[in-house]
Amino acid sequence: MRLYNHFMFDFQTPIESVPGVGPMYLKKFHQLGIKTVGDLLFYFPFRYEDFSQIKKIADLIPDEVATIEGKILQIKTFRTWRKKMFLTEAIIEDETGPLKIIWFNQPFLTKNLKPNDWLSVAGRLTENKNGSYFIPSHYEKINPEDASSRRETAGLIPVYSETAGLSSRALRFFIKKCLAQTRFPLDPLPLFLRQKYHLLDLKTALQQIHFPSSLNNAQAAQKRFYFENLFILELIMTRQRLQLKQYRGFYIKSNMAALKKFADQLNFQLTGDQKSAILDILRDLQKGKPMNRLLQGDVGSGKTVVAAAAALMTVENHYQVAFMAPTEILATQHFHTFTQLLKNFDINIGLITSTTIQISWNGLTSSLTKKDFLKQCANQQIQIIIGTHALIQKNVKIPRLSLVIIDEQHRFGVEQRKKLLENKEGFIPHLLSMTATPIPRTLALTLWGDLDISSIKELPKNRKPIVTKIITPDQREKIYQFVRAAIRTGRQAFVICPLINDSVKLEVKSVTQEYEKLKKEVFPDLNIAMLHGKMKADIKEKVMKQFLNREVDILISTSVVEVGIDVPNATIIIIEGAERFGLAQLYQFRGRVGRSSYQSYCFLFTETSNVNSKKRLEAILKAKNSFELAELDLQMRGPGEFLGTRQSGLPDYFMNALTNLDLVQITKKEAENLLFTDPELNKYPLLKDKIKEQQSILERIH
Ligand code: ADP
Ligand code: MG
Repeated sequence: MRLYNHFMFDFQTPIESVPGVGPMYLKKFHQLGIKTVGDLLFYFPFRYEDFSQIKKIADLIPDEVATIEGKILQIKTFRTWRKKMFLTEAIIEDETGPLKIIWFNQPFLTKNLKPNDWLSVAGRLTENKNGSYFIPSHYEKINPEDASSRRETAGLIPVYSETAGLSSRALRFFIKKCLAQTRFPLDPLPLFLRQKYHLLDLKTALQQIHFPSSLNNAQAAQKRFYFENLFILELIMTRQRLQLKQYRGFYIKSNMAALKKFADQLNFQLTGDQKSAILDILRDLQKGKPMNRLLQGDVGSGKTVVAAAAALMTVENHYQVAFMAPTEILATQHFHTFTQLLKNFDINIGLITSTTIQISWNGLTSSLTKKDFLKQCANQQIQIIIGTHALIQKNVKIPRLSLVIIDEQHRFGVEQRKKLLENKEGFIPHLLSMTATPIPRTLALTLWGDLDISSIKELPKNRKPIVTKIITPDQREKIYQFVRAAIRTGRQAFVICPLINDSVKLEVKSVTQEYEKLKKEVFPDLNIAMLHGKMKADIKEKVMKQFLNREVDILISTSVVEVGIDVPNATIIIIEGAERFGLAQLYQFRGRVGRSSYQSYCFLFTETSNVNSKKRLEAILKAKNSFELAELDLQMRGPGEFLGTRQSGLPDYFMNALTNLDLVQITKKEAENLLFTDPELNKYPLLKDKIKEQQSILERIH
């Protein structure tokens, strides 16, 4: 009676409507970001295991992956008393002889599997001093007469990234069900492109990516999705480029006298790269077209002062500036830095975060109410507004806004800029974004193809290279002694606690534990403070201030200090569980020290024996600068991790596509062609929908 319920689902069907998905599985699915049947079908395997060889038991070779079939002669579960573990042991037999199979910790198996059942088992043969036995990675009951009863074994088996309680096996089960019972939408990829580039249609591709009939077909399916994703991405980028061309930017004239006064009052000389970055920006600001410039430069290379120069030019032209930072701590720091850098100019600078409102003028800082703050933004009294995302809220009116500066954040599109300027038809503000994580060339081409880039490669002259060492547990005591000695000579230290499972709660716990340990056991005589993301903003700021004023010797922190924090007197940074962080992130951490003429140190604490983890850590010792490191990191981890998109739920296959330069070029050309003939995509409503969908994904890239 299949006929009637053949199509039970479509892509939008909530996953809990699939029979078998109870509250427990639902939670797990949500953890993987799977909310609908469509999400599940687009949850792709990251590799395939090849069990296509069905072998006779007598022909098995130790350690080789294979599938065998046989009848259960006996099966029993028992508990090993030494390790307190369940073992299920079965003897199965084919016409060439018997084989012992051992499952670990699956006591329920004996409920399901009985003597005389036929099994197909995929796995590998292991030999040790007690004899040889088979370790299964998949198994299923089969009817030896019926080939179609083999689903889980004997073939290419997709492997998914799992979460505890939702195995690849379970995922395969649900995906299989959904593939069979879902009404597929029309293929968004136009037929002419599919034909031209020999791409599978949507339905076939989805079937083949999950249950490929051969490795070639799996790859063909992958290619189709790479193509589709890149094509949509290029449509988005091309449209943005075209859109940007329609707008005008404010004309901001360079005021060389003011710039000279600014440079002369600094207590250092600008580096050559800083000067040329400033000149790049000044040139852009005078073009009358909206600037779209990325300023990339190593941590500590001095990007803030470049931003301040751009802001100064803008204010000199009687326009307003918005400067947005990703965290409150950083916004506050920028506020104080700008206050100092511009103290000899008659400029009002405001700070707005979700908890703090301040204003400064000529180096003097004071508080005011939010109402007054908003009023002063609206009547242009406050010329430079610094803040977190709070500053792009609707109620913040900045009528003469003409320059937006964004720190440590890659994405800020035409749309957002337009929103900041509702009433100025045809104009959008100039954009300067800054990052210490340089973009590898391939990604720059794909994601940020419409961007001009200035790079600061030269560090300020007074800097000494940071001594970086990987520290094993037995060396821990020595390092603590070293830290104590450095603090005695007046320096300060950071301790960064490991990232645990992306869970803020656990991270807070680990910081608290480390704090207790260091305060009570290791450094009872020193001033120790902690910082984490769950603390209230005013307390965070207080702690940062104490650290800056040297009232605190050691600051223990989560990754909240990762970006931008500037405390030149801190010369040591210890990173616990270093292998858990990405290279770019470690590099950022390290950049918290080495900001003065004192010799600085970075100690990477690790207990890992994993060879790859060690290799990654060694890369950071070798890389000369963040540009080199970025390329390395991309190679080692793939773009998904590199861009920090794992957490944002951006699928890996999507990210991987970005590094395929040939496909990037083809899809770019095709996107341009299509938009040339049909700018609004009126003939391709399905593509339009896809664009909307991916645009929201893109916005999650940070
Ligand atoms: P980042 O590029 O990481 O944002 P910052 O702008 O925070 O770096 O600058 C790091 C430190 O270097 C600050 O204390 C700043 O005052 C200092 N600095 C910036 N430019 C120079 C320079 N040309 N010479 C010496 N010190 C500088
Ligand atoms: Mg910075």
